[in-house]
Amino acid sequence: MHLRGSRRRLLTGAGTVGAGAIALLTLDACGGGGGEGAAAQTAPDAPDLTGLESAEDIWQALLDGNRRWADGAAVHPHTDEDLREELVEGQAPRAAVFTCVDSRVAPELVFDTGLGDLMVTRTAGNVFDPLVSESVSYGPAALEAPLLVVLGHQKCGAVTAAHEALLAEVEGAEPEDHGYALPETVNALRPAYEAAAGGPGDPVDAMIEANVLLTVEALKAHPNLAERVADGALTVVGAVYSLETGLVAEVS
Ligand SMILES: [Zn+2]
Repeated sequence: MHLRGSRRRLLTGAGTVGAGAIALLTLDACGGGGGEGAAAQTAPDAPDLTGLESAEDIWQALLDGNRRWADGAAVHPHTDEDLREELVEGQAPRAAVFTCVDSRVAPELVFDTGLGDLMVTRTAGNVFDPLVSESVSYGPAALEAPLLVVLGHQKCGAVTAAHEALLAEVEGAEPEDHGYALPETVNALRPAYEAAAGGPGDPVDAMIEANVLLTVEALKAHPNLAERVADGALTVVGAVYSLETGLVAEVS
């Protein structure tokens, strides 16, 4: 069920908020009175993830938002003061997104969403370790978000640097000195490098996609998530964002 911009959420409880604990409060955006300027900021066709329960519907809403973003028609929903105040009582993000730190890949913008919609974790090259995976799994595990998106991106500097370093290692060459080092990130990307090596197409693009797919599989098996995946309560999707087109494409 899509909830339009004239509706707002009222969340009960703090911290862990199950779907059953969510009550919806309808406000009349056209009813006059104070505080309605905020509701007017949300266009009628803006995505409201609040009422969406299925991962499929949530993913489609995110792809719809991404299309608006790519078309230069983003509406930037859920940035109003009323919603900020309502969210003080609790949060129920509908999706978690795990992506890169790259400044050009801001998930709330890329998917044209707003406050309270997405729980986002970001690391260089969207690589993870036990510490990071606890953050990635928090939204789906503790807040019952039905969708987890692993989002790689075109022209990822971290993956490019890792590819260069690992290729130099294979060739026995001295890695180029860039004045910084990402040894942990390079090591974390080694499986993606090996998975993509020798394949067709651009090797860095292939490594970016391989990293996404390997991360999806690893997260599906994470102790916090495996049972929810098996029960069908959580869907983990892999995707890559194009800086050139602004579009997100699912990979599998
Ligand atoms: Zn990146």
